[in-house]
Amino acid sequence: MSPLQDLTTLDQQHLWHPFTPMQQWCAPDHTPLLLVEGHGCTLRDQFGNDYLDGNASIWTNAHGHAHPVINAAIIDQLGKVAHTSFLGFTHEPAIRLAKELVDLLPGSKITRAFFTDNGSTAIESAARMALQYWKQNGWPGRDTLIAFDRAYHGDTLGAASLGGIPLFKGSGNDFGYRVITVPSLEALDAMSAEERHRIAAVVIEPLIQGAAGMRLWPQGMLKALDSWCEEQDVFLILDEVMTGFGRTGTMFACEHESVVPDFLCLAKGLTGGYLPLAVTLTTERVFEGFLGEPHEGRTFFYGHSYAGSQLGCAAALASLRVFRDEHVLEQLPAKMALLGALMADLPGYRQCGMIAAMTIDSPDLSLGAKICLVARKHGLLTRPIGNTIVLMPPLCVTLAEIEHMVAALKAALDEITPPACRTA
Ligand SMILES: *Cc1c(COP(=O)(O)O)cnc(C)c1O
Repeated sequence: MSPLQDLTTLDQQHLWHPFTPMQQWCAPDHTPLLLVEGHGCTLRDQFGNDYLDGNASIWTNAHGHAHPVINAAIIDQLGKVAHTSFLGFTHEPAIRLAKELVDLLPGSKITRAFFTDNGSTAIESAARMALQYWKQNGWPGRDTLIAFDRAYHGDTLGAASLGGIPLFKGSGNDFGYRVITVPSLEALDAMSAEERHRIAAVVIEPLIQGAAGMRLWPQGMLKALDSWCEEQDVFLILDEVMTGFGRTGTMFACEHESVVPDFLCLAKGLTGGYLPLAVTLTTERVFEGFLGEPHEGRTFFYGHSYAGSQLGCAAALASLRVFRDEHVLEQLPAKMALLGALMADLPGYRQCGMIAAMTIDSPDLSLGAKICLVARKHGLLTRPIGNTIVLMPPLCVTLAEIEHMVAALKAALDEITPPACRTA
């Protein structure tokens, strides 16, 4: 056995992977794919095979792997200090990052950055801030959060309680506080005044629901929801954990409909996909609702040990520098256009910026996984959501790499579902 084969055996003996049916993973005929290195959009496995990173390492990577600017920033910070507590102390990388982040929404009501270390806790921070805000600022009856059917906001109990995908709810779906799940904006309008007055905040993935299988919201929906929240004086929480940092073609998805929320939750792409860091951006109004003397108990007693770690902040600052220096957003339109042109003939095709998806309409829900497995042979790594297959490459992807990715996907599709059996 080569040392790396030995490692995959040890993996099967001792590891437990996220979102993974482990019986199949541990089966003797399954060889786990072990990734040993990455450069740009390319990842290499234990056998020396190269693949294009078709889902940007689960929607995180922005500028490619081993980017010299981000690597250097992390190494430079490492030489100073890797991590100190953010509870009661501060540091330069976090201060500079907070300033750069609020400046990404210039002249808006967003002024404050609260750091955590993953998308779920960025959402939980917003949910808890919203609930506590009303409780201690004259409207304790606002005890309800509104979320949307098929939403995905993370896996911790608090974030999962806002989710609307039954599969991810485990054995139950009542995790604590009051959540009402609605299918659409019209359903909010239809609520009684009494119910409406209990709403603390509405949370939504703007433009596109990711884990639901890349479901697009109708154009204008976000703007209308924002106006509704404004009229009702209800907070709007935007979950841009997936859509943030260029994924939809603009820095943030909310820019497409000129919406600035009360809470903007960011994570996956914040560090360019290098280190766990997340942030909940909010307004001076919310912030001031937590001021007071310690004995008044108005403080936000919430935080994680690795909140705002120096290494994460250094990576995020470097990623934002790459956005500027390499004119990343300016180069996206040509890439989005090519992605769309090449994929337009695929079944159930839809696209939102650099996020493209197709769905096979079949009662056999194992097809998506099979296609992704065959696509590996053609040099493409991605992960299905049921029978939906997503292409969401790192933003640095070249036009040639986009062509290669779509060709690999089509070859796999032809092998698993010959065109004759497909309904376009
Ligand atoms: C991934 C994701 C989350 C959760 O982020 P984690 O860092 O995995 O906890 C929340 N919301 C959306 C829209 C996501 O895509």
